[in-house]
Amino acid sequence: MGTLGVLLTYPMDSYLEEKLDKRFKLFRLWESPPEKRMEFLRSHSQAIRAVVGNAIVGADAETIEALPGLEIVASFSVGLDKVDLEKCRERGIRVTNTPDVLTEDVADLAIGLAIAVLRKICVSDRYVRSGAWKTNGDFELTSKFSGKSVGIVGLGRIGLAIAKRAEAFGCPISYFARSEKLGVGYKFFPRVVDLAANCQVLVVACALTAETRHIVDREVIDALGPQGVLINIARGGHVDEAQLVPALREGRLGGAGLDVFEREPSVPEELFALDNVVLLPHVGSGTWETRKDMADLVLGNLEAHALNMPLLTPCSDGWSR
Ligand code: NAP
Repeated sequence: MGTLGVLLTYPMDSYLEEKLDKRFKLFRLWESPPEKRMEFLRSHSQAIRAVVGNAIVGADAETIEALPGLEIVASFSVGLDKVDLEKCRERGIRVTNTPDVLTEDVADLAIGLAIAVLRKICVSDRYVRSGAWKTNGDFELTSKFSGKSVGIVGLGRIGLAIAKRAEAFGCPISYFARSEKLGVGYKFFPRVVDLAANCQVLVVACALTAETRHIVDREVIDALGPQGVLINIARGGHVDEAQLVPALREGRLGGAGLDVFEREPSVPEELFALDNVVLLPHVGSGTWETRKDMADLVLGNLEAHALNMPLLTPCSDGWSR
């Protein structure tokens, strides 16, 4: 078996790219213009046996079909919503992701967003920078985070880490998941809408699947209400943005802290003028420390695959173990 040919779909991390280039035969997808991508894939289809994708460009059905020699998709992300898992399963292609190493950063950011929205940190920062403090006097009062009831959609690794952090702020925790988690001691709601009606800060932390797309819809937004705050650090597709934007504009929803959007990097421009939202460019795992750990996991998985060893973090669906 020769050197593994690896397709990197997006310029996601310079350390990862450098290491991949040293260790494997690297193909950079973004170097070919979008209209020539399929041609590029077909011309290297014999050499490419691995795809490294991320939350922006993964391995869709078209990419997988163009690569008959594909053996492994090693994602530089936890979420696998940009990987056609069904196609991988059919073809016996192994799939890995980067769980655990990013949990703390994403949970930290969720709490940061909640505090930023409620305490209007970004608005008051703009107040100081614009000189308004001098001319208009003291900043308006805001709402406290400590003690607010927090509802979490998806009590996985990140959801649980958010719960632990929020507990330290004295927040009562409740959650929605496909099944009740025994032994966690948080209140379980079998319907998202009931969770939203019974919390003040709703945090989305579940995987994006066909089932969870638009899990935060008009009904959930209305249940959260004018005093409620929505935090989304999972995927943009969880929230129906066409419903969210007018709700925030009209004050039917109190506020939102969003790290992810339905059509990244496009963000609904109406949000730019609203002071009740904090908008981040999908930076949940974006620290030097965590991105290096994620890169090392991707490299370790590819190395293990090349050496026919057990994968470090196979995705849990079973067929890639
Ligand atoms: P995880 O441990 O696999 O947790 C995912 C959770 O999603 C599971 O607990 C699962 O709960 C829940 N889930 C799946 N299908 C569901 C459904 N139909 N209804 C309700 N809940 C459902 O993954 P994680 O590490 O916590 O990551 C969670 C998500 O965060 C990822 O999938 C990713 O999209 C996102 N993320 C975002 C960033 C960022 O940069 N903003 C970074 C990393 C991850 P049950 O199995 O109990 O139902």
